[in-house]
Amino acid sequence: MELRLYDTLSREKRAFVPLDAKNVRMYVCGPTVYDFAHIGNARPVIVFDVLFRLLRHLYGEAHVKYVRNITDVDDKINDRAARDFPGLPLNEAIRKVTEETGRQFHADVDALGALRPSVEPRATEHIAEMREIIERLVKGGFAYVAEDHVLFSPQAMNAANASLPRYGALSNRSLDEMVAGARVDVAPYKKGNTDFVLWKPSKPGEPSWPSPAGIEAEGRPGWHIECSAMAWKHLGEHFDIHGGGIDLVFPHHENEVAQTCCAFHRERMANYWMHNGFLQVESEKMSKSLGNFITIHELLKDWPGEVLRLNMLKTHYRSPIDWTMKSLEESAKTLDDWYRVAADVEPGKPAASVVEPLLDDLNTPLAIAALHGLRGGDVSALAGSLRLLGFLSESAAQWEGRKQQASGVDAKEVERLIAERTAARSRKDFGESDRIRDLLAAMGVAIKDSKEGTTWEIAR
Ligand code: AMP
Ligand code: ZN
Repeated sequence: MELRLYDTLSREKRAFVPLDAKNVRMYVCGPTVYDFAHIGNARPVIVFDVLFRLLRHLYGEAHVKYVRNITDVDDKINDRAARDFPGLPLNEAIRKVTEETGRQFHADVDALGALRPSVEPRATEHIAEMREIIERLVKGGFAYVAEDHVLFSPQAMNAANASLPRYGALSNRSLDEMVAGARVDVAPYKKGNTDFVLWKPSKPGEPSWPSPAGIEAEGRPGWHIECSAMAWKHLGEHFDIHGGGIDLVFPHHENEVAQTCCAFHRERMANYWMHNGFLQVESEKMSKSLGNFITIHELLKDWPGEVLRLNMLKTHYRSPIDWTMKSLEESAKTLDDWYRVAADVEPGKPAASVVEPLLDDLNTPLAIAALHGLRGGDVSALAGSLRLLGFLSESAAQWEGRKQQASGVDAKEVERLIAERTAARSRKDFGESDRIRDLLAAMGVAIKDSKEGTTWEIAR
């Protein structure tokens, strides 16, 4: 069976044919590093990690290049830096914020079982590429300078007599409607009300770089140009897959396509545009004001990262996901069981029943159903399949040990009570043995008797 992926641009599921099977290339928009990442941010991380792993499985580890950027120049970063480090020069404060947040992000996504991308470029290290694209756009008549800004004109793009995509094609909007519906308080230096910023002047104290297009004052890039520059540098003018959350389709990705295609006279930037659906919490939109804003960091204090991962993958990536405590508890029980039966087993080849749904536009809910099907039969295929999906990074003993640690249960004390209970049973003192069983249950410990003896685990 072949890999098929849903493409937001053509609005259909299509067979995936890489431009070069020896170098399959994917770009995913990464975080803006100013604060802890929330559980919604974990969704693209996990979804595109599964795709990365699947592509490596299909084309070979050495033949897939995955780029996920870090946006380290942004107003939100500047604001946070000024607030958290008021005594420091802004540039130093910004470096502190981006370094610390970047470290937190890595710790979080490592715990989620996500492989590090092949390259994690930082926006501030690609200013030269941004300037180069901007120069090309100005020369080509797609962008212009006004009051030390450089602005891109979607109308110039759509009027151009060249084989370019239509501005608005990705987000399925018409430029005429966008023009008619645009806000009235458009910045006065903009010629058209849908024009967007490629470069802008920096305020005193803000990070700044020499400007392109003959502008004397120093400035800084707009957000969209960063991704065009980083994708170009690391993947070329045209590559296979571009991903991100559904909220990025417009304006971010629409503008990325416009910049890249007009700068390089291309009909396409990426052949497949993939977008994950949004995550909400207990049926409500997650927001700081509603008090239901959950960071990955907080969740990891209560749950192993693989539980969060499984919980995310139980929903198809294009559907909205409702993140609930109940579902998390079920995911934890499922993983406890899989760890018990499969973690210490020699992994076999991933089962066709698991791989085939993944080939169908990453149908992870169906793949997970197939894992349940393997549970009672081919456990070595179960182990191999779980590993393909990024699970079983620990041994069964490590997993159980972590659970014990998290529960605060003293393993020695449990062993002592079990020995006492075994002694009570052998002298047929069932009152005492029941009392000890209840005591263990109250501590959160479940025991199981078999011919080999009594085993125990932390009950979820
Ligand atoms: P941001 O740092 O806000 O640019 O987001 C980083 C990534 O997380 C982007 O791909 C967003 O589309 C994605 N994202 C943000 N919020 C959510 C959410 N609630 N559910 C799913 N994805 C999200
Ligand atoms: Zn981007």
